[in-house]
Amino acid sequence: MSITLKQVNDIESLQAEIKKWHDAGERIAFVPTMGNLHEGHLQLVDVAKQKADRCVVSIFVNPTQFGPNEDLEQYPRTQKKDCELLATRGADLVFLPSVDVIYGDEVSSDIHVPEQLNNQLCGKNRPGHFDGVASVVAKLFNAVNPDVAVFGNKDYQQVQVIRWLVSELNLKIKVIGAPIVREDDGLAMSSRNQYLTNNERQRASRLQNILQLIAGELRKGRRDYSALSEEATLALNKTGWKVDYIEILRPNLTQPTEKTRDFIILAAANLGKPRLIDNLKCTI
Ligand code: AMP
Repeated sequence: MSITLKQVNDIESLQAEIKKWHDAGERIAFVPTMGNLHEGHLQLVDVAKQKADRCVVSIFVNPTQFGPNEDLEQYPRTQKKDCELLATRGADLVFLPSVDVIYGDEVSSDIHVPEQLNNQLCGKNRPGHFDGVASVVAKLFNAVNPDVAVFGNKDYQQVQVIRWLVSELNLKIKVIGAPIVREDDGLAMSSRNQYLTNNERQRASRLQNILQLIAGELRKGRRDYSALSEEATLALNKTGWKVDYIEILRPNLTQPTEKTRDFIILAAANLGKPRLIDNLKCTI
């Protein structure tokens, strides 16, 4: 186990460490997280270490990306174990700021994601969520000053929001979308999976299965995208899920046409308490 994981709580100490590395000509990759780390997060660390000399991880449960009825208070906080995992995986530094360090007196979102990106998928169903994500990531980017930032494609719309943010602020940060890490039965790993009961957990991989079924139908030549999404929604809702959306789009999150060959199929649905999301790329 590596014993070199530095832990810092304030921006001054963070920047002092980062400056030493940058002065030595080292490149820094950054992995923002909300903690409660699992293999999905740890594989982002692996990618970060391949892409740069140093890997910085942040753990911050960001209040501005939670809606009023969401799980901010209950969100699992497991900082000690997270730090042990990061040390074992070879991360160089973990930034553990308080809400005060990040926001000072005003806990609000200063950045507003454009409507066409925000008003669909998770953005439509979680008002203010992506403004909160963009605002905290802008603050974290400013604090860390990374060369590379690694995000998981599980949160596909989030990766598009971050790409927009980097372009909007003219940042020189290379954004990498890393593959979705799954459990053996296909369920995308998520901190929220632990809210599932045993029975729900056994049924949870159905979300991934339904995306595969849609991909199969696209490969067979179906182009009635709305009907296909509706059928899948009905099928899930009949078996105890509560679907927020199932959408068949192009990888840039615009509507496909008859001629589209590259798709992304995205879904969000509640199974019991947790709201699970997943997506699948498909080329025909
Ligand atoms: P979170 O802690 O949920 O905010 O996630 C932090 C980062 O980990 C985000 O970039 C997520 O997309 C990524 N992530 C979470 N779960 C997975 C997963 N199963 N596979 C790949 N990346 C993931």
